[in-house]
Parts: sequence; C-alpha cells; structure tokens
Amino acid sequence: MDNKDIDKTFSNLLVLTVGSCTCCTKTPVTKFHDAACPYRIAKEAADTIESLQAEVKELREQNARYRKALEELRPLLFGISIPFVDDHDGNPLNKALRILNKQAIGDSHD
Ligand SMILES: [Zn+2]
Repeated sequence: MDNKDIDKTFSNLLVLTVGSCTCCTKTPVTKFHDAACPYRIAKEAADTIESLQAEVKELREQNARYRKALEELRPLLFGISIPFVDDHDGNPLNKALRILNKQAIGDSHD
C-alpha cells in the first residue's frame, strides 16, 4: 500500500461523511454524534488516517535528517587513524589497536 492508496481511502471516507448522519445532529463535530452514526464512524476513520499520515511524514523527515547527519559524520569516522603500534610483542592491547587502525583506514591487507 502506497501513499496514493491511503489518499484514496481518505477521500472515500470524506465522501461517505456527506449526508450520512443518521442521528440528526447538526454539527460536524464528531463527538456530538451517536457512536453508531455513519457520519461519525467515517469522519473518525478519516481523522485517524490524517493523523497517521502526519506521523509518517514527520518520521520520514526525521529519518532524512538522521541519514544526512550520518553522511556528514561518515568521513570523520573513517578519517580517524590510530597511530601504528607494533603488536609483535604479543601485547593484546597493541593487537586490538592494530585491528582498529586497519578498520579505520579500510585496509584489508594483513
Ligand atoms: Zn450523526
């Protein structure tokens, strides 16, 4: 289901609200209609879709901001270079630093 399907469902629900009140309430405010009134049911469903669309829009914008921030950070992360240390002394810390250093510079050679 894509945005067009959701937009179409939203439009259809609004069409259903027109002239659909069966509880003779003369206001568009849903809370004054009977719970079983077709107008109220269709309008509340449309309102729910509208709220969800707004949330999805906000989440997509937030996602785009995070991705942009990550792209800006990436060169910094991969630009980190740890000074070469000799691990031939068997020191596990030196070995760990060597591995980190290779990952940081993207060196796949051993
Ligand atoms: Zn009604």
